Amino acid sequence: MRDFTLKTYRTLLESFQRAGYQFQTFEEFMVHPAKGKVIVMRHDVDELARNALKMAQVEHGLGIQATYFFRVVKQSNVPEVIREIVKMGHEVGYHYEDLSTANGDITKAWESFETNLAYFRQYYPVRSVCMHGSSTSKYDNRLLWQNHSLEDYGLVGEPYLSIDFDSVYYLTDTGYAWDGGRFAVRDIVVNHFGLSFHHSQQIIEAIANKTFPETALILAHTLWSDNGFQWFFLHVREFIRNRIKMAAKKHPVLAKCYEKLVAWYWKKM
Ligand SMILES: [Zn+2]
Repeated sequence: MRDFTLKTYRTLLESFQRAGYQFQTFEEFMVHPAKGKVIVMRHDVDELARNALKMAQVEHGLGIQATYFFRVVKQSNVPEVIREIVKMGHEVGYHYEDLSTANGDITKAWESFETNLAYFRQYYPVRSVCMHGSSTSKYDNRLLWQNHSLEDYGLVGEPYLSIDFDSVYYLTDTGYAWDGGRFAVRDIVVNHFGLSFHHSQQIIEAIANKTFPETALILAHTLWSDNGFQWFFLHVREFIRNRIKMAAKKHPVLAKCYEKLVAWYWKKM
């Protein structure tokens, strides 16, 4: 079976349900964490908003509510998609990158953060925010919280600041693999569980064998697709992108060129 398709995604969700896991949105988990086996399914809608809608439909069909973090860039911020996702009962949060877009200017970053948070609150009473990794920027978006608290903005959580990853297992599909964390630049979580998966099928087996942790925060991007052409194109692109990211860590000139290209892409495309 091809991995990272909507079909595989459904099978993965069904495996959790069969094993007695319940699903909570990130907001619910922050406010009233459920007892027993819990999965928080988080989606960073970096791009391909329409794919987010497809994943949301799969979850909805299984009675699952997840959390979708949207960016302001137009590849993510698609009003019809956000409205549909809210209608299905999912949580919407803000995937912020204000410090990197403001080039480190903290005053400007706060102005845009407030504007963008208010914007997303037109669709949903947003109570969670999550930083976008902005791998090519030298600014870590989380630094916004050095002098401000989440509560001041009516927020209950930020996954990278509010979760104790010693007790909550963190799993991400970065670069089309569940062990692709090495390609992440900033959104890195140290794994103390001694578990590693590559294919979704291995997770499905661990769930069945009861070796999968009781509580997990899973980050699934919106690249899961049943469309063979899109699936293939995205796999090739992710492969190349990860190689460039790795090489850029060692070669500053390449890093600079890649940063320019990425900035251009998000503005123009
Ligand atoms: Zn992101």
